[in-house]
Amino acid sequence: MNQEVKSGKILSPAKPWTERHVPGIQVPDEQAALKATFTEPTVECPECHALVTRTAMTFNAYVCPQCDEHLRMKARDRLNWFFDQVQNELGQEFVAKDPLKFIDSKAYPDRMSEAQKKTGETEALVVMQGVLKDIPVIACAFEFDFMGGSMGTVVGDRFVQAAERAIKEKQPLICFAASGGARMQEGMLSLMQMARTSAAIQKMKDAGLPYLVVLTHPVYGGVTASLAMLGDVHIAEPKAMIGFAGKRVIEQTVREKLEEPFQRAEYLLDHGVVDQIVHRHALRDTVYRIIAKLMNLS
Ligand SMILES: [Zn+2]
Repeated sequence: MNQEVKSGKILSPAKPWTERHVPGIQVPDEQAALKATFTEPTVECPECHALVTRTAMTFNAYVCPQCDEHLRMKARDRLNWFFDQVQNELGQEFVAKDPLKFIDSKAYPDRMSEAQKKTGETEALVVMQGVLKDIPVIACAFEFDFMGGSMGTVVGDRFVQAAERAIKEKQPLICFAASGGARMQEGMLSLMQMARTSAAIQKMKDAGLPYLVVLTHPVYGGVTASLAMLGDVHIAEPKAMIGFAGKRVIEQTVREKLEEPFQRAEYLLDHGVVDQIVHRHALRDTVYRIIAKLMNLS
């Protein structure tokens, strides 16, 4: 009695009468309804855990509208946001090699292709040439998601090429730094990039052209020890962590507990490492004003 019988054939277990299909009445396909519903991707703020739509975050330059936390921006997003007009991208011809045939838990080329797939970038530094308001500038940004924004030979090549182009075309250079330091998979070759980039910056200074550094969260190691600390002006984003060795390593060395603002941008501003902390919404205007002043354009 529990089964529905039609033309002598058992079809399926009987449904309660409330769920049975009534002829002439169309029941919406639940699966189709689910597919048709558009859900916009959201971004979770790591500080206040607010869920904000990606569109809202993009329009707000990845600053949380609820708690003002500055979320990390991808290098390409950062440069596209920074420029009013992008003319071209530089340094795409440089490709990483594996001179040491380095293998840790994975081979270096495998790590590289994994990072390329994850970020859509070919290396950890993106360089673009364009216009900021009415000043032609060159800007580069580190992609932290690409092997921790580590500096290998290609990052060095791209940075040096950017500085050389800036000198040739008499343009200022801006660097958005975010890095864990030198790339250990390239050993000594990555450490040499510290000297190379420092020499390129010195050439910019000799040519009388401004080099500005914007320190974004986080900047550590060999990048702090070279190109990120050699700017004419050092701007930091609020709460960015900036240092050479990490907090834990220093604590173990000096055997002292280091309290929270240590290595934060605010702490470094008090101690003279950083010149200015600027909210991301005011960053473009601030950089523009400084460049205009340094190049006697205003
Ligand atoms: Zn938030």
